[in-house]
Amino acid sequence: MAIYTKNRDYSYHHVEVETGYSLLYSRTDDNCLILNPVATALWKGSADTLDADRVIAEFAAVFDTPNAAEYMGGVIEKMFRAGVLGRPDGQAQAPQQRTPTAAGKTTSSYPLNTVNLYITSECNSRCYHCYQPTSVVDRSSSGPIPLIAADHVSHPFLLAFLQQALALGLKEIKITGGEPLLRNDVENIITGARALGLKVCIETNGYFITERLASVLAQEAQLIAISLDGASAAVHDRLRGCPGSFDRAIHAMQMLSSRGANVQAIMSVSRLNLGEIEPAVMKAAESGCKSFKINIIVTLGRAERLQNSSVLLDMPQMLDVSRTTGTWESRHHIDVFFDGPPCFASLRDAFENGVGACCFTNLLGVLPNGGISYCGIGNSCPELVFGNILDEGFSLARLWETSVPLQLARRTLANKLDGICSQCVLESSCKGSCRAFAYSHSGSLKNGHPWCEQAFQEKLFPTHLLIPDSAHRHVESNQTNNQPM
Ligand code: SF4
Ligand code: SF4
Ligand code: SF4
Repeated sequence: MAIYTKNRDYSYHHVEVETGYSLLYSRTDDNCLILNPVATALWKGSADTLDADRVIAEFAAVFDTPNAAEYMGGVIEKMFRAGVLGRPDGQAQAPQQRTPTAAGKTTSSYPLNTVNLYITSECNSRCYHCYQPTSVVDRSSSGPIPLIAADHVSHPFLLAFLQQALALGLKEIKITGGEPLLRNDVENIITGARALGLKVCIETNGYFITERLASVLAQEAQLIAISLDGASAAVHDRLRGCPGSFDRAIHAMQMLSSRGANVQAIMSVSRLNLGEIEPAVMKAAESGCKSFKINIIVTLGRAERLQNSSVLLDMPQMLDVSRTTGTWESRHHIDVFFDGPPCFASLRDAFENGVGACCFTNLLGVLPNGGISYCGIGNSCPELVFGNILDEGFSLARLWETSVPLQLARRTLANKLDGICSQCVLESSCKGSCRAFAYSHSGSLKNGHPWCEQAFQEKLFPTHLLIPDSAHRHVESNQTNNQPM
């Protein structure tokens, strides 16, 4: 008989009534776990001990499916491995396995999982919200795609870099820009990366996607994200300063989805298109997109001038958008995500989609001229560029192990962050979400996320995510959070 005991260090339990997901927090370990509805019911329904054989048998009897018993066994095993269940019968409790973003706390090795390739700084659009310091090229016609700019790294160097990164654990790349499809060697980059066994995601405005390129992308890329800032040409083209871009983006989505590609629409939202979100979700669903990501404008790059501008959403508007994603999702049968810190997402989205998580210590950005930075932040903050793949004798392995900025980031994120993040139960897994945004606001990787700080100051931060003080430990909460977020 397999008896497990509940680890009572996990004494704070909050259930999200709308989704059935819940979070468990241990003040002792300063660690937080999100449980799916089955694990939630198991935790809530058990006293101090749990008889696994009985639980599995009862579950299998209720859910009369071939793998019900196996599924419930897996849930219990995962909870044991996560350290929230222990064994009183001589077996030591499993060491805790923290979420990937908290890996810095528990291991000294940092696999380089992801490389973001910013392959060009040029773009045919003039989006008012662009978070990169892009330069505009006039490509309003469907003419030949231009050669790459003289100071941009050519694909053999990029592929040689990716080859080096394989040894450090590289699994996937994101190709972005500027507008990556302006480069005439983008197919070489994609097929070269695929030949190395890498997962390829690409972000594009879709303008240059032809039938032939759609076939290549559908075949080779695991995710193609296409910008969609409104449900009509009148809105989309005006915000993007690019006539014809709406029709081309929609046509690109249709060409790709008809070939079975995984297409995502990305919308950058401000007060200028707030009312367009649901119509755009509908348009994306009709055009075959599988998911819809909502970005709130961040005032980086060319969008820096928007700081304190009246076009930015205020906090109640942001929260309203983040809370309505589920409604849009169920009405239009497409996954809808709000791209922001996980406290802006439901526990379900944080659990299933990793919303808001950034594996900051497990990625690198390669800038158009070969510069290396944490990610695209190096395009706006030159002080955060700490190498170049074109440097003579460049060794990625050496840079990854010895670079002072990388060590600083690892040290910073291995410890508790400051500000609101230091009071948030999600800190151990979230690690402050977008560190580039925090840096651009405060000049420090350690400070709280600006939106979370703002929500806290405006008393809109969800109280169930604040670390309970000692007087409130051992609270079992299953009440709907009455706070506005
Ligand atoms: S947001 Fe994208 S499409 Fe728009 S200007 Fe910037 S790089 Fe170009
Ligand atoms: S307060 Fe910090 S740790 Fe908590 S969700 Fe926001 S960014 Fe993440
Ligand atoms: S720090 Fe921010 S901008 Fe950089 S990769 Fe993470 S989420 Fe993206």
